[in-house]
Amino acid sequence: MKKPVFCLALATVDCGSASDPQTASRRAVPRRPAAFVALLTAILLAMIDCTSADAASKSKANQIRYEYAPPKNPEHQAIHDQMKQGRALETLQKLLSPLLLPYPLALKVAGCDGVKNAWYNDEVITVCYELLADFLKNAPKQDLPIGISRADTILGPVLDTFLHETGHAVFHMLQIPVLGREEDAADQFSAFITLRLSKDEARRMILGSAYQYQLHMPGPQVTVPIQAFSDEHSLPAQRAYIILCIAYGSDKKLFSDIVEKDFLPKERAESCEGEYEDLAFAMTKLISPHIDKRLARKVNEVWVQTVSTRRARLARP
Ligand SMILES: [Zn+2]
Repeated sequence: MKKPVFCLALATVDCGSASDPQTASRRAVPRRPAAFVALLTAILLAMIDCTSADAASKSKANQIRYEYAPPKNPEHQAIHDQMKQGRALETLQKLLSPLLLPYPLALKVAGCDGVKNAWYNDEVITVCYELLADFLKNAPKQDLPIGISRADTILGPVLDTFLHETGHAVFHMLQIPVLGREEDAADQFSAFITLRLSKDEARRMILGSAYQYQLHMPGPQVTVPIQAFSDEHSLPAQRAYIILCIAYGSDKKLFSDIVEKDFLPKERAESCEGEYEDLAFAMTKLISPHIDKRLARKVNEVWVQTVSTRRARLARP
């Protein structure tokens, strides 16, 4: 999803009462002797290390908060009520509770004056009722023949949206370095976390999410304005292929039919195991140290406790 101005100020390190280290060092260079500059640089680097260590030491689990903002548009009242009664944000809170974060992260659903979007900004993930209404509107009337229910085509993209934005939050709050496009990294973060659910649930959520993306590619030939290629996000079709490829790469047996049915072209499928391994390596090296492993083992249990009720509610339009 799109995000507004994405505050990366923390990436330059907040050193408490100290002035901006980058600005200070830029100012110092032309006027100071080299030895002094080296000393100053060493002090500033030490401050950066201290700040990072300090932030890490303050990280803890159960940092997720949530808010059901009252809808601005009366048409969204039913979505608000259904989510609140179904304790949807409470479930997401529990799912994300293993994240060790230095300060709280809020999950919020809110009216966005007609904007169908979601974003992360200032430690708050906002998902618009307008976007949720769109997922409902786009869901098929019947279950799909590939073993995906109508409810999965709603639950999948909702979960993916929150996890994608959580990816941005994690990169920001934990100062995780990102190579390549952050939007693609957030999509991959979401797919990787989704694949930690049980096999059946992971398959349902991945394919449900891909379903909503594939609505934007109604046939084998697609015409888009040239500006679409300048977007910071990959195109919807590419985003669908990214998550299908990660899923297939993680378990070729579980997702074998997506290649057999040509949802994922064979040419791309050949590289998916390697793409998944690259992602798993990055997640293990960079994200895993910030996960409470004891709480993480309960994630699937949390999901299963509530998903069947939610699936029943969304079974029919
Ligand atoms: Zn994004």
